[in-house]
This record gives sequence, C-alpha cells and structure tokens, in this order.
Amino acid sequence: MSSPTTNVSAFAGEGLSKPAAPVRDRFCPSCGRSIAWEALSCPHCQWRQGEGSRLMVQHDPIPAGRRTLTYVGSALVPLLGIILGAMYMGRADEEHRHVGMMCLVLGVLNVFLLPTVLAAVLYVMVLGWG
Ligand SMILES: [Zn+2]
Repeated sequence: MSSPTTNVSAFAGEGLSKPAAPVRDRFCPSCGRSIAWEALSCPHCQWRQGEGSRLMVQHDPIPAGRRTLTYVGSALVPLLGIILGAMYMGRADEEHRHVGMMCLVLGVLNVFLLPTVLAAVLYVMVLGWG
C-alpha cells in the first residue's frame, strides 16, 4: 500500500532522471548548415523562414460577382455569413480574410438585427399602426 506522497516523489524522481529533451537540428534550406529546429532564420546566412513560406501561399482572387453573392448571402442568411466568414478567415491570403471579415460582420449584425425587425413587424401586425 502506497500513500499519495510516495507516489508524487517517485514521479518527481522519474522526471529528474529523464534526460533533457534532445535538441533537434535541421538544415538551412539556403546554405545547408545545421540550425536549431525552431529557428525562424539562419544565423549563418540571410535566409528567413517567413519569406520562403509566404511564397507558398497561393493568391486566390475572388471574382467580384462571387464576392457580391457572398455578401448578399451573408446579409440574407446570417448563419451562412458566419460560416462563410469563419471559412474565409481561415484562409492564408489577405483577400479571403477581408471578405471573410465582412461576411462575419454582416452575419453577426443580422443575428441581432433580424429579431429586432421581426419584433417590429410583429408589433405592427398585432397592434396595427394605431
Ligand atoms: Zn543558412
């Protein structure tokens, strides 16, 4: 039978005896020298991680027609706007993120606007114009 205290100390001892996490190395894609795994730039040459990966991002322009359709859809169906917005904002390029933000704003606005409009219509229907 072991008490929780001995368990904890055994656990701690195990952790101490474990060797430190090995430092992983990789090779700089520019000069080929060994650099730290998580390094975002190479200390030996001018290579930088960001510039290389940014080139990989494909620019995917959104046609004006589809953009308008997306906005109109978001304005009419708030849920669609929020879903489309979330989808577009996950994209890497600036244009999609911008359109996604607009959809999200339109969608969220309508979530609050729609019940107000419906309530107003209902109010008029029930009570009339006076
Ligand atoms: Zn390098």
